[in-house]
Amino acid sequence: MEEKVRKVAVVGTGTLGTQIAILAACFDYEVSAYDTDEGSFNRVLRNLTGFMKSSGRKPIIPMEDWEKGANKVKFCKELDEAIRDADLVIEAVPEDLELKRKVFKRLDTFAPREAILATNSSSMPISKVESATTRPEQCLNMHFYSPAMGLNMVDIMGGTRTTAETIEVGKAWIRSIGCAPLTVKKEILGFCFNRVWRAIKRESLYLWAEGFVDFRDIDRAWMIFTGMTQGPFGIMDNVGLDVVYDIEMVYYNESKDPKDHPPEALKAMVDRKGLGAKTGKGFYTYPDPEFSRPDFLKG
Ligand code: NAD
Repeated sequence: MEEKVRKVAVVGTGTLGTQIAILAACFDYEVSAYDTDEGSFNRVLRNLTGFMKSSGRKPIIPMEDWEKGANKVKFCKELDEAIRDADLVIEAVPEDLELKRKVFKRLDTFAPREAILATNSSSMPISKVESATTRPEQCLNMHFYSPAMGLNMVDIMGGTRTTAETIEVGKAWIRSIGCAPLTVKKEILGFCFNRVWRAIKRESLYLWAEGFVDFRDIDRAWMIFTGMTQGPFGIMDNVGLDVVYDIEMVYYNESKDPKDHPPEALKAMVDRKGLGAKTGKGFYTYPDPEFSRPDFLKG
């Protein structure tokens, strides 16, 4: 089945698109990429390499191979050049519905008729984008987790008319790049693992914001229980507390349930620019966060 995909194009090479393009190149796909900002690919690659080295995560692929993969990605100056002979196009432009619809319309115009069009959107079901194309049967959500160098799973979800064959080709391709497809059988905001992670995140934020528990104890418990090198608050610091806040607001705006509203204490941290690792201060202080010290688990 993976024979159906030989050439992959990635549109939007920011944080996620760059990782997807390199991952595919590491598994010997011919990969082309396009971004309106030509410097984006190299900038993201530099930041990611630094992050992986400092996070202690084990990359799926050794760092040297990752860098070789990056050299194999063909960066194109025009969108049509990047996608004109692609079998699979993955869109990873910013999370803005109108922008995604505009991009999908252009993908539909310039990509080969049989090509599959996927969005990496974190919150938009493909059903909101597919009608910008003339091929809704070949459109789907393919949601990678960041960092793709260390998290080898991808949500896959169809829209109102996506064919079973499109889903199967997508799943086979995901497996062929060393990732596990997480199939979402009915449309839902947040897909599969995002929702599981969000339940942990929401409860942890609640216990901290309402003053029940020190956030360090939640992280300690999580690290002892799972054997991971970070707990929920360390992970949120790495994601960026502004991003965490915005994601919680997406769920709140959909449900309008006050229990889904992120705590004001989190908003206050974001307003003070305490965004986590990227600003040097979030729940922890960087570059030497308390949870990385050898005696942290002793409490
Ligand atoms: P980003 O801002 O880092 O990258 C977006 C890139 O798209 C930028 O380089 C920008 O120059 C480019 N771009 C903007 N308009 C364009 C256009 N018309 N054509 C081509 N390129 C264009 O964003 P990101 O974090 O990589 O997120 C991209 C998508 O991936 C979003 O839909 C987001 O929800 C999803 N996603 C992000 C994460 C994450 O952790 N950052 C995880 C999973 C999914």
